[in-house]
Parts: sequence; C-alpha cells; structure tokens
Amino acid sequence: MYLMGFYLLYEGNHQRMDTTRAMNMALLAKWLFRIESGDSSMCINLLRTKYLGNCGVFQEKVKSCSFFWSGLRKVRDWYGYGKGVIVGDGKSTRFWLDVWRGECPLNNRFPSLYRICWENEATVEEIVTGHRSLSFRRNLEERDMGIWKLEESGRYSIRSLNQFMLNLGTVDLRLTDIWNTRIPLKIQIFLWMVWHDRIQIAEQLKKRKWTGQVHCKLCAQKEDLNHLLFRCSVVIFVWCWVLDSLGWLRIPSSFEDFQASFLGKPGAKNNCTHIFLFAGVCWALWRTRNDWVFSDILVRHPKHIAHRTFGFLQQWHALSTKEAKRKVEDLLTKLHVKLQAL
Ligand SMILES: [Zn+2]
Repeated sequence: MYLMGFYLLYEGNHQRMDTTRAMNMALLAKWLFRIESGDSSMCINLLRTKYLGNCGVFQEKVKSCSFFWSGLRKVRDWYGYGKGVIVGDGKSTRFWLDVWRGECPLNNRFPSLYRICWENEATVEEIVTGHRSLSFRRNLEERDMGIWKLEESGRYSIRSLNQFMLNLGTVDLRLTDIWNTRIPLKIQIFLWMVWHDRIQIAEQLKKRKWTGQVHCKLCAQKEDLNHLLFRCSVVIFVWCWVLDSLGWLRIPSSFEDFQASFLGKPGAKNNCTHIFLFAGVCWALWRTRNDWVFSDILVRHPKHIAHRTFGFLQQWHALSTKEAKRKVEDLLTKLHVKLQAL
C-alpha cells in the first residue's frame, strides 16, 4: 500500500476502473494534496521548488520530469474533483477552474461567461492585479492553501477519493430517507417518481404528445403534481384531516413546501414517519385519481380518501421496525380519532 503511493500502476486493458488502481491513484493524489495544502516537509518542499515555483499543480508545465511526477500529473484530474482552495495570494488558483468560491468552479456556475472569456486559464492573482482582464477586489497576501472538498474536515483522505472514483454520481440523501421508510417497495418507487416529478399525470403525458384531457376532472384546473397532491379542493380536505389530527398549524401548499417545512434535514429522525404519512396520503390520492380518470369511479365524499389513506397506513404499519412501531402507532391513533369525526 505504501509503495503504491509512489508510482502510478500500469493501466493494462481495464475498461472500468478496478479497486486496486483506484486505490493507487487515490494514494498518489495525496501527494498533490500535501503539495497544495502547505505541508512543509523537506520532500514536499523539494517537489514544490523543483516543479512549481509560484504556480499550482494544474499550471505547471515543466518539460522534463521524473516518472513519479508524471504519475502525479496523470491523477491531477481526479484530484481536481475534490480540490478546493482557500485563496491566499491567488497565484496558484485558477480563476475559472478551481473551487475557490462556493461549491463548484466558476466555469460551472457561469458557463456562458466562461465560454466567451479569453482568459480561461487566468489565476485569481492575475485577475486581481489586472494582469489579465477582469477586476476583483480583495487584499491577497498569503500563499494559496489547498483544502479537500470531499471531506467535511477539509483534510484529504484516501478513502474519500477512492470512494468517489468507484462510485461516480452523488447520493441524494432525501431519497435515502425514502428507502429507509418502511413501506412496500412499489410505494417507495412511486415516491421516487413523485420526487422526480415523473408520475403520469396529464402534464407529463402532454409532454409525450398525449392528446387527452389536461385538466383536473374535478375542478378543471391544470393538473400538475402540486395540484394533484396539495391544491385540488378534494386534496385540501384530506390534508386538513391530517392537520386536525396532528395539530399542525397549516397544511403544505406544495411539494417544495412539504419538503422545506415538514421534513427535517435529510436523515433527520422524524423524516421517516412524515414520509410514511405522506406516502399514505399520496398513494390514496393517486389511486382515487386513477379510478376516476380511467374507470369513471368518483368518490362520493372526500372523507373516503381519508379512509383509504388510513387503510394503507394501517396495512404498512406491519412493516415498521421495532423502534418505529410506537411512533407509527401514535400517528395512527391520532389520525383515527379525527377520522371518526369526519
Ligand atoms: Zn382539481
């Protein structure tokens, strides 16, 4: 493992990155991090003096270099995925390409500006001093300091880059909450579709050149996700029953509002109970809406949707974990009391 950190292993014929190679590259990238993060050991100082001078690892263009250094160059792009910068003198920080402001490089945040900018490789220092055209106000005195964006601590870890290489793409923590909620798989998938605005309501079907009715059958308003789940008068009745039962101060007005005000941060401990409830309401609404649209079966009173919701929740209650069971039972009791009174 130690030796793997010195030289880049031969790639061979691998099409996909295998774990050994990823580990080897992550070990090598650690050298780049040490060089940029102010490590003052003799070895790092030597490398800095020999290859970098005042520039950063992405700017150096030394013609002849050692096998070791050329290995470092080859892992630069991977290192770049997690590299962030605390700007000091700006000499080794690329204005557009490094993450030195916010969570992504400026070329990603302002792609159209980047495209028309002549100075794509300019450093922050060059922009600030007016060496290249763009102005920026900031007093920069210290050397740039490398930080690591794939770890909250800002410190490089081989594990983080290794994981990033092997598992490209980001984890949506909100969806993790859905997968952790104890409801049947098909309901989890339904919620996933709700979260991605993919359920087959009129608005979605229209995008696929569907020629049917695009309006809600009940109130003739445009049927989109928020109308179906939060705004139609029938739906408001169901949410009001939830509000009464749980003592909420208001009902959610949209899907965005539900996420922002009724769910905690991704992973928060009450999220699964709220998603459980949300799943019940949504599934009952969805089933009722489909009966209505496709089979012309119309509910006689919105309270039947509340009964249907309660029925689903009661059914799924059996899937709860031991720890969650008490919370779910409490929820069901409160809903049941108000259901009787409807
Ligand atoms: Zn409606």
